[in-house]
Order: sequence, then C-alpha cells, then structure tokens
Amino acid sequence: MQILDGLAVSAHIKEQLKQEVSDLKANGRKAPHLAAILVGNNPASEAYVGNKVKTCEELGFDSTLLRFETSITEEELLNEVKKLNENESVDGILVQLPLPKHISENAVIDTIAPEKDVDGFHPISQGKMVLGQPGFLPATPYGILLMLEHYNIDVTGKHCVVIGRSNIVGTPMSILMSRNANPGNATVTMCHSKTKDLKAMTLQADVIVAAIGRPRFVTADMVKEGAIVIDVGINRIDDATRKSGSRLVGDVDYDNVAPKCAYITPVPKGVGPMTICGLMKNTLLAAKNRSNA
Ligand code: NDP
Repeated sequence: MQILDGLAVSAHIKEQLKQEVSDLKANGRKAPHLAAILVGNNPASEAYVGNKVKTCEELGFDSTLLRFETSITEEELLNEVKKLNENESVDGILVQLPLPKHISENAVIDTIAPEKDVDGFHPISQGKMVLGQPGFLPATPYGILLMLEHYNIDVTGKHCVVIGRSNIVGTPMSILMSRNANPGNATVTMCHSKTKDLKAMTLQADVIVAAIGRPRFVTADMVKEGAIVIDVGINRIDDATRKSGSRLVGDVDYDNVAPKCAYITPVPKGVGPMTICGLMKNTLLAAKNRSNA
C-alpha cells in the first residue's frame, strides 16, 4: 500500500509555480493576482481562504481578501464581483462557498468573468471541460489529476466509481476520469444518494473517489483488494483526546480501508493541499492568458 502524499506533491508543484512566477517577474511581467471574497465568518471557510491567501504569499502571487458581513445583499455582492471583473490588476476571482442562504450561489458564480474563473465553477468553464477544450478545471478534480500524474498512476481502462455528484467535485471528477486524455480513459460509474446497492458498485471499483461529506462512510467491506482510493471528504468529528476537542476525517474509514489498497490518500494532507495547487495553477494560467490577450 502506498500513501498518496498530498502535502509532498503539493510542495513539489508549489516550487515549480514559485519558479515560474519569479521568471515572469524577471521578464518584467506582473505577479498573478488572486482576489478572494469571504462572506461571514464560518470557521471552515476562514481556514480555507486563509490557506489560499497564505499560499499566494508563499508563491509570490499578489492576493486581495475582501470580507463582507453575512448581511450583505445579493445585489451588493454581485456588484463587488463586477468590480473585480473590471479591475485590470486582478487575474483570478474566487468566492468562498457556501454563501448565506439569501444569496444565490449560481448568480454569483455566473457573474464572475469567465477569464477570471479560477475555481472553474462558471458554466463556461464547466462547458469547456465537458467538451475537452482548454480552460479552468474545477480546483479539486484538477488537484486529483495532478496527484495521479505525479505518481504515474494510469487509470486507463480501469473502473472508477465516483461517489457524489456535486457540481464542484463528483460530476467534474466523473467527466475528467472518463475523458479521452491522460489521466483519464477510465470507465466511470457515478453514484449518489439514490444509488441502489452502493456496495455492489464499489466492490467492482479499481478506483474509488469518495466525495460524499459523511465521516468514514466508505468501509473496508466496500473496497476490493488492490483498489486505488481517493478520499475528498473533509469532516470534523469530536475527539476528546485532542486539545481542540475535534479532528478531521475523510469520507473513507482510513485505518481499515488502507491495508486493502494499492494507493490511498489520507485526510488531512491528501486531496486538500492538491486543491490549492489546482487553484494556483489556474490563477497563473489566467494571468498568462490575460497578459497574452
Ligand atoms: P455535496 O454535499 O455537494 O455532495 C455530496 C454528494 O454525496 C451528493 O451528490 C450526494 O448525493 C452524495 N451522497 C450523500 N449521501 C450519500 C449516500 N448515503 N450514498 C451515496 N451518495 C451520497 O458535497 P461536495 O461535493 O461539495 O463535498 C463532498 C465532501 O468533500 C465534503 O466532505 C467536503 O467538505 C469535501 N470537499 C473537500 C475538498 C478538498 O479540497 N479536499 C473540496 C471540496 C469539498 P445527492 O446528490 O443524491 O444528494
């Protein structure tokens, strides 16, 4: 069994990105600039955005964090996004989800200029991904592809079972695994809460991608020997042995599943750091595209 070490792979990719940014600057070009919007003070969202801003600093990117109270109206937020669209110095825009209930996430995502959509959630980005055209891939699936690439894991012809069909993880992951490209060319089954006999599906899987949002949902009896398991889930559970009183676990029962696997991603330090790499690579691409436009 080999652990797919997201922290190590992301450190490697970040070194490459840092070098590219320093080369850009040496050639008189400006640093890529990521603008992030955070509404409210949900602790998980704070941590995710904080990490993204910190990574920008590490890599020599410029970053701007705009914070708003949960009382902001949809119209006001859309205006803030429009201002970033028009701001020439900004290359990439991300709006941290979830947003308060009174704001339509779709309306916000649709308002981001497609050429600055570094999270890859805009319908144009998703459409390009489906059609196999170059564009911004959603950051988490992109990060998973980068991880597979790094470890030279070939999924061609393998049966990949994706659990979850969200627009940001499960659906794009299913499309990317089945596309005629590398990594890709897998045979994909997409499962969700209405799937009958999920275990019968996962037991056939050479590759399982778990993006459910339920702690340790995928148990050892659901996984065949030698499977590749990618755990996207981030779930906080109580743990009295920790100072904080809680800890993070994935959607996979890691301790019992890992011994059966050829490869597995841990949580934390698996897919999470790779997601940030996907976002940073998209931001660099946005900056390059815009300066060549
Ligand atoms: P969503 O809640 O949007 O989607 C969850 C999916 O799981 C849905 O499609 C749902 O089915 C399916 N599901 C729920 N219960 C079951 C069940 N009993 N059997 C089969 N399928 C089920 O979550 P996200 O895709 O946004 O995120 C999934 C997880 O990944 C979360 O833990 C999240 O925190 C984490 N995450 C981690 C990231 C990272 O960087 N590592 C990035 C993004 C997310 P249905 O559609 O029928 O409701």
